[in-house]
Amino acid sequence: MIVILLGAPGSGKGTQSERLTAALDLVHISSGDLFRDHLGRGTPLGELARTYMDAGALVPDEVTIRMIADRLDRPDVHGKGRVLFDGFPRTVAQADALDALLGEIGAGNVGAAVFIDVSETTVVERMAGRGRSDDNPDVIRTRLAAFRRDTEPVIGFYRAQGKLVAVDGEGTVDDVFERIMAGLVACE
Ligand code: AMP
Repeated sequence: MIVILLGAPGSGKGTQSERLTAALDLVHISSGDLFRDHLGRGTPLGELARTYMDAGALVPDEVTIRMIADRLDRPDVHGKGRVLFDGFPRTVAQADALDALLGEIGAGNVGAAVFIDVSETTVVERMAGRGRSDDNPDVIRTRLAAFRRDTEPVIGFYRAQGKLVAVDGEGTVDDVFERIMAGLVACE
């Protein structure tokens, strides 16, 4: 089972990822967490990613795809094919690359792409309360623009394949979680 979680920054992807990985016994792969881990360890990849992350821009596809390929090579994933991707893919090129990578490791195909749909007002409110260094108003605007320009086409990519599970992301964490679980059951 390979599930993708899509949503604007501040849509609740991180919170729902934790619930979903526990409920469905999936390995959680968050590209944002992987970048932050590299940053914290001061690796060359982290240093490269830093400028993009600080500006709220996407890290270039080839860098991001290579990082995900390395992560998929670890034994907890390899061949098992039970993964929740959180924050990846964020571009259509990344979505294409993911299909190829999954094929290479024999992990099966993407089963469903969950899109957590929230209004821009909610996103801005939630991010303002988070206090992350890339959550200041200018950076938030850039991140939302990147989502609209680069990531919205990814929603269309999975919709065209009949894999999209779009859920209303307004309301409590429990409400949204239940909608996602119901959507995944209906998609199977
Ligand atoms: P996130 O925690 O998912 O909001 O990601 C934080 C930052 O990491 C983003 O604003 C981007 O700069 C970078 N990032 C995370 N995932 C990706 C991705 N799939 N492609 C490009 N950049 C990413």
